[in-house]
Amino acid sequence: MEKQQQTFSIWYFLIVFLILYAIQMFLSAPHAETLSYSDFKSLLKAGKVSDLTLGERVISGTLKQEGLEGLLPKEKIEALEKSGKGEHPFVTIRVNDPSLIPDLEAAKVRFTGELENTWFSTLLSWIVPALIFIGLWSFFIRRMGAASGVMEIGKSKAKVYMEKETKVTFDDVAGIDEAKAELMEVVAFLKTPDQYRRLGGKIPKGVLIVGAPGTGKTLLAKAVAGEAGVPFFSMSGSEFVEMFVGVGAARVRDLFAQAEQRAPCIIFIDELDALGKARGMNPMAGHDEREQTLNQLLVQMDGFDTAKGVIIMAATNRPEILDPALLRPGRFDRHVALDRPDLNGREKILRVHAKQIKLAPEVDLRAIAAKVPGFVGADLANLANEAALLASRKGKEAVGMADFDEAIDRLVAGLEKKNRVMNPKEKETVAYHEAGHALVAECRPFADRVAKISIIPRGIAALGYTQQQPTEDRYLLKKAELLDRLDVLLGGRVAEEIIFGDVSTGAQDDLQRATDLVRHMVTRFGMSAHLGMATFEGPRASSFLEMPMPQGPREYSERTAQAIDEEIQSFLSDARARVGKTLTERRAALEALAKVLLEKEVVDRAMLDQMMEKQKGMTVMDGVQSPL
Ligand code: ADP
Ligand code: ZN
Repeated sequence: MEKQQQTFSIWYFLIVFLILYAIQMFLSAPHAETLSYSDFKSLLKAGKVSDLTLGERVISGTLKQEGLEGLLPKEKIEALEKSGKGEHPFVTIRVNDPSLIPDLEAAKVRFTGELENTWFSTLLSWIVPALIFIGLWSFFIRRMGAASGVMEIGKSKAKVYMEKETKVTFDDVAGIDEAKAELMEVVAFLKTPDQYRRLGGKIPKGVLIVGAPGTGKTLLAKAVAGEAGVPFFSMSGSEFVEMFVGVGAARVRDLFAQAEQRAPCIIFIDELDALGKARGMNPMAGHDEREQTLNQLLVQMDGFDTAKGVIIMAATNRPEILDPALLRPGRFDRHVALDRPDLNGREKILRVHAKQIKLAPEVDLRAIAAKVPGFVGADLANLANEAALLASRKGKEAVGMADFDEAIDRLVAGLEKKNRVMNPKEKETVAYHEAGHALVAECRPFADRVAKISIIPRGIAALGYTQQQPTEDRYLLKKAELLDRLDVLLGGRVAEEIIFGDVSTGAQDDLQRATDLVRHMVTRFGMSAHLGMATFEGPRASSFLEMPMPQGPREYSERTAQAIDEEIQSFLSDARARVGKTLTERRAALEALAKVLLEKEVVDRAMLDQMMEKQKGMTVMDGVQSPL
């Protein structure tokens, strides 16, 4: 887009110049006939030239009207007669002729010299090639730039925005009450930093807001500023990376200096991941600029005295790639996670955005919210807007249910392309998968209690999740406990097998974790009856360096390696058989739980307890064991 504009403007320039040039030619050359120099000389000798101007390169003048026959070809004479009104103006190109002046004097012609006005052509002869050169140059530079990411020199795109008042309050942010509650503390601090300190509150420094795009990270940060009534400085991480080395770092310094003057205030860094990608992750890229900017940010954050009342907030949707240095205490050590909103959340967000439009009385926002699982705040804002547009296009008085339905269809089609909504079949698979995990966890005495089950996609990888809450801190784990953990990990996959007779790719992470767990049990904890109490692997990672240590030479034979593999296999297949038995016996409970999940998307502990209660009664009647 920008590139196009650039080439376009160069062409534009050239065209303007050509037009100017043409005008100049037109003006400087009045309608005069061009004669050959020899014709001119013979006319001169015959005394037919009446008036003459000698330019450096051109001679122009007028001819007498009579007696031209025989001296000039017929067409020339006709042309001469046509061109001048009464006079016969002509031009001829001056050649190097030393006898010209004597001849003129001999013919007694009145003649004047003229300095030709050549500034324009001179200019042109310089500028046109220069322009062409610049055009080509920028074209190639751009090509190079596109390939290497450099050469954005001097075009500092990174902007720091400052809003004195964001005019956004917590009322504008709906459906993320937990996050709001967490940030209340920040608001309290910004409002009255001194009082807060006197009461001994520990002042937060950096708050990282994590969530999928459009979940309202920026909105939330602005709302904190709005609630506290402090200025809001914002910059985007991605803009800083494209700049010339050193500029980004200078900007960061500048930003902090400015913010300090206006404290209390909030600094917000959007897309922190662009800036804060783990250093050295891609040694070939050599993104010096990013590293410098990141280092500068770290330095600023460390050197910053929180007491001044500046809070740094940042947003990312890829916390896993952030440089660990950013997450250390004293930097972004507070994390606020924004999930995709559930049904209630979506309804509340719709309510916020519906305030600005006129709704028909029949509109049921909850029913609308129920139709768009997976929509985030930005999508819902879009939905309300689109519905309003559709209604006004149809000339309606108020936005009706039909407009919302149409808007949903449009948006969903767009989002499906971007893979942001799950199709119903996938959703069902995820529901059974998560129900499987949860049910196995409920049935295993040593497994952590299930706190929450959700099938709202989170980020890109996880389509759903079952959250377990340990009842106490553990430092030692018994084999029986590890086996229960293993069963829970396999619960999702096995549930898919039982219900659909087929498996999906969704269990990859579970299987990875299950395999790792078993490998540890066998090779480190000596929990395998076959291999005995020996350990087969030294400590893998040093707990001080955050990097995995290179693996040392293997200290066991090929045969032992094979035995380890077999042992891992047998642990896994035993576990699978156990889980299969558990779930088939409780198929009714599994299905009931999956159904509720499909309907509600999120099942919390209370709801789960209720269901299990009901299930108990039912299973007794069915003659199947209670799941608990
Ligand atoms: P992010 O920064 O997470 O990508 P934004 O904060 O830019 O998302 O959100 C984009 C828009 O979506 C907001 O301006 C707002 O209109 C709407 N929005 C997002 N989340 C919410 C929410 N929880 N409540 C109300 N509106 C929201
Ligand atoms: Zn799983």
